[in-house]
Amino acid sequence: MRETLVLNASFEPLATVSLRRAVVLVLQDKAVVEQAHPGLRVRAAAVELPVPRVIRLSRYVRVPFRRRAPWSRRGVLVRDRHRCAYCGRRATTVDHVLPRSRGGGDTWLNTVAACAEDNHRKADRTPEQAGMRLLSRPFEPTPSDALVLALGVQERSALPEWLPAPA
Ligand SMILES: [Zn+2]
Repeated sequence: MRETLVLNASFEPLATVSLRRAVVLVLQDKAVVEQAHPGLRVRAAAVELPVPRVIRLSRYVRVPFRRRAPWSRRGVLVRDRHRCAYCGRRATTVDHVLPRSRGGGDTWLNTVAACAEDNHRKADRTPEQAGMRLLSRPFEPTPSDALVLALGVQERSALPEWLPAPA
C-alpha cells in the first residue's frame, strides 16, 4: 500500500508513485482516485480523502517520460526530493559533482541537489578535494520522477497525515 498505480486519462497504466505523490497529484487536481483502500483515509492540507490505490490523470499526457527524461535543474531537485546530497537538509541549488570547470557536464549522474551553504563551500572542487562526502550516488530519474516533471507538479504541499480507519 506504499505505492499507487497511475493511469493515463486513457486508462493506460503509466507508473507507480509513492502514496505521498499520489495524494499530491489528487490535491492539485492532476488526477482523480479510481480505486481506494477500503476504510482508510488520509488527510493533507486540511483535505481528507480515501487512500488511493489507483489514480487516473485528469488530462491525457503523452508518454515521453518513459524514455530518458531530459536533464534539468528542477529535475535534479525533484529526483533528490529537495534534499541536500551532502548534509540531508533542504536543498535549493544543484551541484555539479565534477565541476563544470573541470569538464563535468549537466547530466543526471553528475549533478545532485545541494543546500546553498554546501554548494558554496564545495565551490570548484570535487567532493574528495573539498573533504565532503555524498550521502548517496546520483542516479537516473525514476519513471515516477519523470511523471512528476512531465505534469509540472509542485511537491511543496503539506505532507499527508494518515488517519486511522474509521471504526
Ligand atoms: Zn547541505
